Parts: sequence; C-alpha cells; structure tokens
Amino acid sequence: MDPIVRIREYQRDRVNFVLENVDLAFANSLRRVMMADLPTIAIDLVEIETNTTVLPDEFIAHRLGMIPLVSTNCDAAMRYTRDCNCLENCAFCSIVLSLNVSCNDTVTMDVTSNHLEMQPHPNEGTEEAGEEQVRRGETFGLPVGKNDLGVDPILICKIRKGQELKLRCIAKKGIAKEHAKWSPCSAVAFEYDPYNKLRHTSYWFETDEKGEWPLGENAREEEPLREDEPFDFNAKPTKFYFDVETDGSLGAQEVVMKGIAELQKKLASLVLALRRVRNGENEMDMPTSGDQTFGDQPAAGSGEQAGWGSGPASSWGNAPSGGGNGTGWGGGGTSGAWGSSPGNANAWSSPSNAGWGSPSAQANGWNV
Ligand SMILES: [Zn+2]
Repeated sequence: MDPIVRIREYQRDRVNFVLENVDLAFANSLRRVMMADLPTIAIDLVEIETNTTVLPDEFIAHRLGMIPLVSTNCDAAMRYTRDCNCLENCAFCSIVLSLNVSCNDTVTMDVTSNHLEMQPHPNEGTEEAGEEQVRRGETFGLPVGKNDLGVDPILICKIRKGQELKLRCIAKKGIAKEHAKWSPCSAVAFEYDPYNKLRHTSYWFETDEKGEWPLGENAREEEPLREDEPFDFNAKPTKFYFDVETDGSLGAQEVVMKGIAELQKKLASLVLALRRVRNGENEMDMPTSGDQTFGDQPAAGSGEQAGWGSGPASSWGNAPSGGGNGTGWGGGGTSGAWGSSPGNANAWSSPSNAGWGSPSAQANGWNV
C-alpha cells in the first residue's frame, strides 16, 4: 500500500496531519529531521558596544540567539560559514543586525526584536559572484513578525532612564544539531497506537488506568480495543499523527516538505557510499565530513568560531558539540538491503526538489 498523507488542520505556522502506510522508523526519522536537520538562520555572534542595562552581556547575547529570524528558502539562499571562502563572515554566509536603544523617559522601556535593524554587509559587493542573495525574500534575516501589528515582538530586556543598549549581531546559517536555536520547530507532536494495542508503553496509575489516562483526540481515528481481543505480537503501527508547530522562521509547509527532501538526501548519500564500498573504491573516504556527499553536515567542533572566543561569543562556544551526526544511520543491518538494489540510487538522487532553490519559492506558496 502506498503512503497516505491526510492534512487535518493547516495554518501559517502549524500543520496537523496523519501519515499512513509507512514504517515506524520512517515516521520517526521524519520527526527527527524536521526538528534537527533543517537549516535556518540565527544570531551567532554578538559584539556589544554599550550595555548599561541590568542584564549582563552573556544574558543578552543568549536571548538574541533565540530570536527566530525569517529563513525562507535558507538552504539555497545562504552558505554555511564553514563552506564559504571568506575568512570569517561575508554577505553570502552572514546577516548583520544592529540594535541601538537608549531610554530618556521616566517610564520603563521595552527593548524588543522590533528594535533590531538589518545592516548592509560591510563587505558587500567585493566578494566573488554567487546566486545566494537573489534567492532571499524581502524580509529574509529579519526577526519574525518585525513591524507586523498582529505579532507581539519578542522582549529582549527592559531599560529605564539613562540606560542604553548598543550592539551588533551576526546571524549565520546552521542546524539544530549544532544548537537548538537553529530549530525551525517549537514543537513536533507525534503519536501512534492511541489504544496501546501494541503495548509499546505501559501506563503508571494509582487506582484506575483508564480514568487516569484519558484517550486523546487521535483515538477517534482507530478501532477501540475489544475486551476479548488477543494480543498480536506481530502487529506493527501503520498510522502516525503529527502536529508540527514552527517558530515562524520557516512555514509549516516548508518544514514538512524540506524534511522529506532532507531525509531523501541522507538516504541517497548512504546508498552512494555503500555502492562505492561494494565497488571497492577507496573505502576509507566514505564517512568523512569533508566528503562531497556529506559536505553539508556540520563538522562537529570544526572550530569555525575560532577568533571569536572572547567576549559574548564564548557563550556559544560549546554549541557545535552536536556529535551523533547521522548516528541513526549507523545500523549496519540494513546495509545489505540498500547495497543490493543500486537501481534505487538513481531514483533517490533525482532532483525531486527541483525548483526549490528558485527565487519564486515564496510565490509558489512556501512559508505562506
Ligand atoms: Zn562567507
């Protein structure tokens, strides 16, 4: 049976859907990819010029890092600094935002994400050619909801008369495996088997299991457990309930679609690597992060922030420890299956995401 997707609810930053006829491992992989593998942009370096607020520099730098920035089409519109030819950051791999606020009033003033202003990059126009910038939308890199009356701005700190905050932020592209601030999702709810027929979980209860664990909405989609139903230990889950909520940096549609594309890409690089092993090509080349097929994975601890170790940058210093890149793919048990069907590899590597890198991505309904 072919997989079925049924969308139950769709909003700009939220989608609720049911996925059927896929394996538990696939559904869970999709969940993990959506949370941790999609690139977005977030403030990564903060240069503080004046801070006479009550909050210390590190505290403010941390709060700035967590502000979601509009990242539509980020995979094509921005480079990772580690893949860029520049020395530290340039217009292709970074966005500069500034904040300059002082309070001259007797009333306490809120410093919010609306005070962050986009700055032209100092080196703009002097570097090599690249198409990244034309793929950026008008609001690309700005805080989500900036100057949008329907969206409350994000509070950074509060200042009173005579206090001042002046700083410069450099936002970079990254994924949530490096630091959670790059996750496009604020929550991904995932459920299967609401009646617990498969006994994948056991409920702790005091006196009444059913009373203390009421059934959720998703139970309406499935047949209740009959009293006399024997336990089927061969049964597998086939129906999965997702609720994906984003922080606004990417739209809900973009998160799900690019999550699937990212999963395809990962599997394609696995298939290609295994084929090379089978063909007896240099086996030692396969799993290095510098390899072309793995090139876009974060080189953990690559020291990309060298030189920024002082000042507020140090608060991000321990971010890229996100080891375990691709650990989920390490299971050697399936390699035989993949390796024995090299014909599939062509299908995987076909450009099924054609058109996503185009400047019309937004016009096509992304991030609506
Ligand atoms: Zn650069």
